[in-house]
Amino acid sequence: MKDIISNRAKLIDASGIRKVFALGATLENPVDFSIGQPDFDTPQELKEEAIKAIQAGQNKYSQTAGDNLLREKIAGKVRKEFGWANPAVLVTSGVSGGLLLAFLALIDPGDEVIIPDPYFVIYKQLVNMLGGRCVFVDSYPDFKLPVEKIAGGITAKTKMIIVNSPCNPTGAVYSEQEIKALAEIAAKKDILVISDQIYEKFCYDSSFSSIANHYEKTLLLRGFGKSYAMTGWRLGYVAAHESLKNVIEEMTKIQQYTFVCAPTPFQKAAIAALDYDTSDFVAAYRKKRDILYEGLKDRFEIVKPSGAFYAFVKAPGKSATEFVEKAIKNRVLIIPGNVFSEKDTHFRISYATSDQKIRQGVEILHRLAL
Ligand code: PMP
Repeated sequence: MKDIISNRAKLIDASGIRKVFALGATLENPVDFSIGQPDFDTPQELKEEAIKAIQAGQNKYSQTAGDNLLREKIAGKVRKEFGWANPAVLVTSGVSGGLLLAFLALIDPGDEVIIPDPYFVIYKQLVNMLGGRCVFVDSYPDFKLPVEKIAGGITAKTKMIIVNSPCNPTGAVYSEQEIKALAEIAAKKDILVISDQIYEKFCYDSSFSSIANHYEKTLLLRGFGKSYAMTGWRLGYVAAHESLKNVIEEMTKIQQYTFVCAPTPFQKAAIAALDYDTSDFVAAYRKKRDILYEGLKDRFEIVKPSGAFYAFVKAPGKSATEFVEKAIKNRVLIIPGNVFSEKDTHFRISYATSDQKIRQGVEILHRLAL
């Protein structure tokens, strides 16, 4: 058969992560710092809510925009948080689902999307797939929000700015001051901001600041997967001020023909999840962050991460990929920075694993950096 693969699919590059997975699959009992999901299991009472919903026959499609009770509860929450009187809400199949729908609804070929680098890899791949153009703004070496560079990157073709705090892969949490400065720039140029807040509950040193508090033209994306250890349940939501109702409506229209709806019984459990207290998990993850940071800081160039469960560490030597290959051969799975960046100088550690594995990994990385 001749080449039947679409040009669109060929614009997506999966090679970076695939390489680590392929190498990792050959190893016995590795220290897995590669996986971006919590190591704790879904809380028992939320599992029971899902089981209850299944037993009660909540197994059919929900409304395209999501279960009405869940949407009402989300609307009430964002109304209180941001003072949005009449928010628009769409329940999505994970934050990935929300991102895809947002990009499908907003990006035309040639449109520019401003993305701080390093970035969560899905942004680049989806923007490229849709014929948009990523405008990367460098946030090295301290990984603060590069507000001036964002301002400098805006052109007549800029469609949106993406902000991800706490950030995957750097673990940076942007300050109120940085967020306010970004809001001012976006407002001045009347540009939409997509705020990916999937890690918002995982903040260790300061409280979280959302741009939605300062700027109405914000598309707010939140997820359940990381906060409640239910990544396989595929749940997230998009919320916005009523002035962006048309965007949410277009996204809902596209959801109708793609995902149809988020999984119904899990939406029912999500109603209870919104009231679930995650502070014990966050405390456990703060401790993991400390073990990792204290373990690495004397040998590696590392900015102390203050959120999510990642650290983005400078690799010794010239190429991060080379160091990563060496680490994997020594049974420590890390991801080369060029998967998340236009540079190949750092590597990402996900410390969502046991304290003992973190200590073991730190010890091996120390040896390799000698
Ligand atoms: N945004 C960021 C920054 C992420 O790290 C991830 C998951 N790794 C997602 C979105 C997608 O999450 P979900 O599983 O809810 O689709």
